[in-house]
Amino acid sequence: MNTFEQLGLNEALLNAIGDMGFETPSEVQEKAIPVLLDQDTDMVALAQTGTGKTAAFGFPMIQKINVQSKTTQGLILSPTRELCLQITQELKLYSKYIKKLNVAAIYGGASITGQASEIKRGAQIIVATPGRMKDMISRGMVDITNIEYCVLDEADEMLNMGFYEDITDILSHTPKEKATWLFSATMPKEVSRIAKKFMTSPVEITVGTKNSGSTNVQHEYYLVSARDRYPALKRLADANPDIFSVVFCRTKRDTQKIAEKLIEDGYNAGALHGDLSQNQRDMVMKAFRTNQIQMLVATDVAARGIDVDDVTHVINYQLPDETETYTHRSGRTGRAGKSGISMVIITKSELKKIKALERIIKQEFDEKKIPNAEEICE
Ligand code: ADP
Ligand code: MG
Repeated sequence: MNTFEQLGLNEALLNAIGDMGFETPSEVQEKAIPVLLDQDTDMVALAQTGTGKTAAFGFPMIQKINVQSKTTQGLILSPTRELCLQITQELKLYSKYIKKLNVAAIYGGASITGQASEIKRGAQIIVATPGRMKDMISRGMVDITNIEYCVLDEADEMLNMGFYEDITDILSHTPKEKATWLFSATMPKEVSRIAKKFMTSPVEITVGTKNSGSTNVQHEYYLVSARDRYPALKRLADANPDIFSVVFCRTKRDTQKIAEKLIEDGYNAGALHGDLSQNQRDMVMKAFRTNQIQMLVATDVAARGIDVDDVTHVINYQLPDETETYTHRSGRTGRAGKSGISMVIITKSELKKIKALERIIKQEFDEKKIPNAEEICE
């Protein structure tokens, strides 16, 4: 096993890595960092959620940036504002000993002029969601004509969310001569398509098996009648008093409704969905990160990429339409080598979906019974 030093990282980064308490590089870091530092190559890296992809592209990008220049040299596109903020915060930690390096976050739901003036002050790295980025390019608020390194993070999610056109548009404003690094948990057709379109002989890195979920995660399903869905959720929470979970619903309305019901029923719950203001979303995320909320009820879009350690359970209150989405949901738990449980509450008519999921995750589900009141009291 390599050390971070052996990967070729400089003193400033090594010191920050020491402060963060990272001891050894993860597999994707071990494979990606030396290549990205050494060559100006394109790269496609496939690794499950929670394997340390942010540092895998963040460390080499930071080391390669010329901090003597204020020009924007690095661009990172990521699917959601939460993720965009998270990556920005991480990059700031990584570069704490590099005084002249500025990282700016660009995302919707916050003041565009504020973000524009931050860029004007000189940000060598921009972390952006595609929608806001495109908007700012068209308004001439940002100049990405000197980009040397471009990351497409969670590429599968960005494409799932319909950002293909926006990404194409943004990349058309960047120079042809640049290194493009695509990071993804899964490799559906659209991702291969975008890789073919925007990359030249990329170095390919795969960690773990393609398209499979994290193996630290145990998958369980609970068969209930439709009207018992909510009581079942409460029972599951009661049976696991130390639960720290993300509860997935399919719509913003259901998400809001279930969170409100849980709060009314005395649970530490909160809602996270796209109809909330940015401020509300930040507050909920903060409460969740600090364990004040035990059950974060969320839509897929809002929960995408959230990196909160120690999530013990993912609860699929409703199954997603796309089987790929299930991989992402269950990837919220079992992170950084820890174990986790992904629970699915289903009705009889959905039973066949479990078979399809088992094929995708290459793991079997355990059929479990909702614990009854006596069992919970014990
Ligand atoms: P991914 O993007 O692959 O889902 P992240 O980059 O968000 O994963 O990293 C997941 C978690 O693991 C983060 O909390 C991060 O700080 C931590 N982490 C990353 N690399 C290491 C490492 N080498 N050692 C210890 N923890 C790490
Ligand atoms: Mg990530």
